[in-house]
Amino acid sequence: AANGGADGDEPSYDSMKDQARKPLQSNDPGWKYGYWHAPPQRKSVVCNLCGKITPGWIKRHKEHLAGLTGDVIG
Ligand SMILES: [Zn+2]
Repeated sequence: AANGGADGDEPSYDSMKDQARKPLQSNDPGWKYGYWHAPPQRKSVVCNLCGKITPGWIKRHKEHLAGLTGDVIG
């Protein structure tokens, strides 16, 4: 950038790395591609691949992922 400075080094919030948006202990593969939309409410999960919010817990999120990839995971 011509005027240098702030390009690219401002800290950016990453929902996928926010521990408040994931279960502390879970080996559910659905969490690789999603996070809670509005914790502590856990019913709605945001898809990190497309941004879709699935209002049916992690189970529904995984069904959504399966629909995207054609594979059933978990
Ligand atoms: Zn998606």
